[in-house]
Amino acid sequence: MRKVAIYGKGGIGKSTTTQNTVAALVEMGKKVMVVGCDPKADSTRLMLGGLAQETVLDTLREEGEDVELEDIRREGFGGTLCVESGGPEPGVGCAGRGIITSINLLEQLGAYTEGQQLDYAFYDVLGDVVCGGFAMPIREGKAQEIYIVCSGEMMAMYAANNICKGIMKFAEAGGVRLGGLICNSRNVDNEKEMIEAFAARLGTQMVHFLPRDNDVQRAEINKKTVIEWNPEVPQADEYRTLARNIDENEMFVVPKPLQIPELESLLLDFGLLAA
Ligand code: ADP
Ligand code: MG
Repeated sequence: MRKVAIYGKGGIGKSTTTQNTVAALVEMGKKVMVVGCDPKADSTRLMLGGLAQETVLDTLREEGEDVELEDIRREGFGGTLCVESGGPEPGVGCAGRGIITSINLLEQLGAYTEGQQLDYAFYDVLGDVVCGGFAMPIREGKAQEIYIVCSGEMMAMYAANNICKGIMKFAEAGGVRLGGLICNSRNVDNEKEMIEAFAARLGTQMVHFLPRDNDVQRAEINKKTVIEWNPEVPQADEYRTLARNIDENEMFVVPKPLQIPELESLLLDFGLLAA
């Protein structure tokens, strides 16, 4: 089983990209579990046709410690297994705790054992934070490979660079590696070339350039992934390509984060080309 964590700046498209890519993996015949690691608990909405009724933390609060796998895991599109960690009440407690609790519980209940016949577990992780609980999936081998969703917008690249600093730190102790950047386009000038250059500087690759496409929203308002909503549209093929590139990926590295002036000059170089 491959354990994959998806990181990136808030709102960049982690949950959308994860689920749409998982739908394409399912189409390829893969068995996948998606674990939402965001208190928003919207990492499996498109797989489930709506928000999960209960998160792991809700279930633990209501039913105590005596929980079974079926209480916290639901089946979604194409037999995908869906889990939402959830979080504490806003303003109370540490959200990272929810992630730690959830992953430990999943392990205890045997969610990762051979009998489950999983090809992939995907962790969709909140924001650009790699501290505490949010780093849990990449610590101690909980996830072996990471993809960072970014765009050509400065703050998305800045966040990606920071996440690389976190990966570098944890890679020393554990075996975690960066599998690449996923460029989720915001239609910035020279975006594809800039992210390719950024990836090269980090010592990694751009696994795919996903165009911005309103079919993503059309599927989303129908609570579906693009592939489930309309498998014929061009964006469905973009997710299929991304899924194939991840499935066939053999480039796993310890990234080399950029110094801020380097990052700025990269932005300037490609920005000036546009002018
Ligand atoms: P995150 O999980 O990183 O916070 P989301 O996956 O919730 O971000 O994405 C934020 C919004 O961006 C979603 O409403 C989604 O519809 C939109 N979005 C993501 N990717 C694309 C895309 N390639 N084209 C169009 N809209 C997109
Ligand atoms: Mg999200």
